[in-house]
Amino acid sequence: MTDDPPEMTPTVSCSRCGREWELSYELDDQRAGNRALEQFALDHHRHTGHYPDGVSPWIADCRRCPCTDRFLGERPARRFATTHARHTAHTVSLHYPESDEVEQIDGPKN
Ligand SMILES: [Zn+2]
Ligand SMILES: [Zn+2]
Repeated sequence: MTDDPPEMTPTVSCSRCGREWELSYELDDQRAGNRALEQFALDHHRHTGHYPDGVSPWIADCRRCPCTDRFLGERPARRFATTHARHTAHTVSLHYPESDEVEQIDGPKN
């Protein structure tokens, strides 16, 4: 009988780079772990142009201007899309991660 907590994955790998990294964080603080992964993924994307394995961004893509941004959470992605749509009256396509689903965020209709 074991009281070990379920295994969490403190490593992140990238098949494109063929590398694996250990994320050092306190295992008893899952939120810090998620932040560490998020930070790592954003840094990795900044340096290499792609995300590590298992990380899929939300993509907010304006259909009227070249304004595109990627987010690792729905809330910031949706906030960006609605803010841009409201300020510019552009329609922004919000692409769901790991899905073909696309939501259209419209600006104010007058
Ligand atoms: Zn990589
Ligand atoms: Zn726009």
